Amino acid sequence: MKRTDSQELAAALLTGERPVFHPNTGQEIAKGETIHLSPSARAGLEAPRYCQICGRRMIVQIRPDGWQAYCSRHGEVDSSYLDQR
Ligand SMILES: [Zn+2]
Repeated sequence: MKRTDSQELAAALLTGERPVFHPNTGQEIAKGETIHLSPSARAGLEAPRYCQICGRRMIVQIRPDGWQAYCSRHGEVDSSYLDQR
């Protein structure tokens, strides 16, 4: 698989940018619609399954201490990034 060097997804998460697609369901989020994340997802404990920018299914790896998710377009996010906030 070709890997991207994009940091777009990580940047969007770190800046708290509003997701375009729901990270758990992949549904497009309408403007003005409230985003409901499960409590564990909000706490960064649950790995996102879909890229919040493009809605693509991400490659997710679960580790004992967290997770890593990868969108072929927008790059990689790691739960450890979120801990650093
Ligand atoms: Zn993406």
